[in-house]
Amino acid sequence: MSDDCLFCKIAAGDIPAKIIYQDDNVVAFEDISPQAPHHVVIIPQEHIATVNDLQSEHTALVGKLVTTAKSIAADCGFADQGYRLVMNCNAAGGQTVFHVHLHLLGGRSLTWPPG
Ligand code: AMP
Ligand code: ZN
Repeated sequence: MSDDCLFCKIAAGDIPAKIIYQDDNVVAFEDISPQAPHHVVIIPQEHIATVNDLQSEHTALVGKLVTTAKSIAADCGFADQGYRLVMNCNAAGGQTVFHVHLHLLGGRSLTWPPG
């Protein structure tokens, strides 16, 4: 837990969020500024600032972020239609909250390349 981290506070229940799923390893909640009809943020319970900070010991945890996302996509009914998973890293990657997170975007056709 990092005292000045927004997503640590959401994971701890200190800041409200629309939690979709949580367990001992991950928390999934609705993005406050959705960029698609379904926009979910999936985070590790552990505070890790950026993808650059991931170590080999985090391999299973990162996999859990992805499998959680695909389960939510299935539960919400847009898995077969398709969706996008995104992890932004640092300023040029568009990261604004420095706690590793996976975006799950679905419910509309998404264009490529992203902006
Ligand atoms: P990123 O730009 O990749 O760091 O993504 C951070 C995401 O967190 C953005 O999509 C924001 O809309 C989202 N966000 C910021 N504050 C909150 C909040 N209080 N609850 C839910 N999502 C948030
Ligand atoms: Zn954090």
